[in-house]
Amino acid sequence: MFPLTLKSEIIPVNIENFELSNYVWNNLLKFLNNASLTIPATPVIVYQTNNLEEFYQLTNKPYHVGGVYKDFIIILQPINILKKKGVYDRVLLHELLHWILYGLNEKYQEGLIYWWMGEYDKKEVDYFLSDFNGDLPSFILNHWH
Ligand SMILES: [Zn+2]
Repeated sequence: MFPLTLKSEIIPVNIENFELSNYVWNNLLKFLNNASLTIPATPVIVYQTNNLEEFYQLTNKPYHVGGVYKDFIIILQPINILKKKGVYDRVLLHELLHWILYGLNEKYQEGLIYWWMGEYDKKEVDYFLSDFNGDLPSFILNHWH
């Protein structure tokens, strides 16, 4: 019942020996199951920038943001930098969840993802929870476009 083709739907660019850790893989499957979702029909491209300057040029995001998702493309800071900070798996999982939730109303995306990943201190979580009815599949369905 799990989407066995998921790994082929994630297309790494500029990343040698790209691997999904068990943490990322298992949590993706768990989320799909919790949310009653299947993987998007459109694959996602994961691009590793060569350095922080390139990351900033492409995303305009400050360096405490490890990755960005938009329109089926994930742009990551250099993976060795993310790994040194100890955030690589969580950044990749976070961005892949944006992909899985590509049709969810934008205003709930961050809050839902932070909530699901247990980052309850983020202000976006309060906003999400103020509208969340406790039923993840129906919430997603009701706010999908
Ligand atoms: Zn995000």
